[in-house]
Amino acid sequence: MEQTRRPRRRPDARSGLTIGRVFGVPLHLNGSMVLLTLLVTVLYAEFARRQLELSQLAGYLIGFGFVVSLLGSVLLHELGHALTARRYGIGVRGITLELLGGYTEMDRDAPTPRIDLLVSLAGPAVSAVLGVLAVAATLALPDGTLANQLAFQLAVSNVIVALFNMLPGLPLDGGRALRAAVWAVTRDRHRGTEVAGWVGRVVAVGTAALVALLTLTRNLAPLALPLMLLVAFTLWRGAGQSIRLARISRRLPLIDLSRLARPVLAVPAGTPLAEAYRRRADGSTPGGALVVTDTAGRPVALVDPAAAEAVPVERRPWLAVDAVARSLSGLPAMPVGLDGERVMQTVQSHPGAQYVVTSGEDVVGILHIADLAQLLEPKRKMNT
Ligand SMILES: [Zn+2]
Repeated sequence: MEQTRRPRRRPDARSGLTIGRVFGVPLHLNGSMVLLTLLVTVLYAEFARRQLELSQLAGYLIGFGFVVSLLGSVLLHELGHALTARRYGIGVRGITLELLGGYTEMDRDAPTPRIDLLVSLAGPAVSAVLGVLAVAATLALPDGTLANQLAFQLAVSNVIVALFNMLPGLPLDGGRALRAAVWAVTRDRHRGTEVAGWVGRVVAVGTAALVALLTLTRNLAPLALPLMLLVAFTLWRGAGQSIRLARISRRLPLIDLSRLARPVLAVPAGTPLAEAYRRRADGSTPGGALVVTDTAGRPVALVDPAAAEAVPVERRPWLAVDAVARSLSGLPAMPVGLDGERVMQTVQSHPGAQYVVTSGEDVVGILHIADLAQLLEPKRKMNT
């Protein structure tokens, strides 16, 4: 699997543990790995003991060896994506390993459908080559030996990783390939993402249905059921995120800070709050934000609407606006002409509720993140 950066509520939140670097790419391990490692080790140990007539301990060792080979295979698969992306000038932020699909985070989208396709196919190609080599080794090694068993493990894990990832729905690699194809045909990248996202939902439901069927017909150990359902759920969520991102991205050109930002009314420092309210009500910007200026007329602070409203009416004539304002230097700023894509980049790198919109030295407006969210996702219920 692979993914590019997407809007997040908490950009710094990473659930994984950073364990090192490979070819300069930071490597993270997902926290859920511990649980999955135990589960797969136990499941596989049962299977291997029956096949090889081993002791309990040897069974667990082989089970653990299977998990390690699965992780190694996923790492090589992700390196296929990462190194191909880097070859085409796309920066790689890191690789996160999960059991049935790690992901590679890139710092931007592929510039063309062709590069998107090459980057997405590189991972499954690596897995397929590893799978073929391991199948050859399995056939060459004598039956019933440990070496044969290990080669067989590698063959199975790589063939599974290659085939599973080629299913044509996002967030899987096959979904990304489908997106590239639709993008090439329609010349609309977002259309491609949306189509591949919907197919991804079908793949997720299909996976869940297949898992249920295999469990009912006793072709799958009941212990594997939660793991496989988790995979299906992860796919469903990833597909939904892709669809959402495509819709948001399509609306990015609508972002016009000169219209979206709320107007400001400048009041000198020391102005009583009641007087500031009166000027705003009388002026042309009744809903505007109050900006406090210093003696030289430079904007220095922004009145916090909640703090100002909390001041009792009878105290407002005696309280200066400065007392309920916060320094502008603490708020991220955006020039009024910034395009939609750059606005989103600023929001991602500096998450906050308000942004100062500037024109040269002047503050021309205040962008509320809720207004931006409303513009980008008008149908989504606000939760801020
Ligand atoms: Zn992949």
